[in-house]
Amino acid sequence: MKEIESEIIEDDWDYREEVRIDPCECNHECGNYILYIKGEHSHIKNAPPDEFIDVCTIPNWLLIDLIRNCSEKLDLEDEKEKLEKIIKKHP
Ligand SMILES: [Zn+2]
Repeated sequence: MKEIESEIIEDDWDYREEVRIDPCECNHECGNYILYIKGEHSHIKNAPPDEFIDVCTIPNWLLIDLIRNCSEKLDLEDEKEKLEKIIKKHP
């Protein structure tokens, strides 16, 4: 697994390489976004691994839920890492 923490600190890494959220074609009317993910991460059978797959529509108000979900998981991973460091220090 990649170093999540150091990647967040780094400003110039391409965070849109595997997953991206782009405005819907009619975003100026609907306000929606589309979530895309590389085929290799999708649960769609025979999806081309290197192509972006249209996963779902995200209304703008749902972006907040999405980021809260992500930050919760990152916090958990962070805590897990801290705990592992403590355990390794005191076997
Ligand atoms: Zn739209």
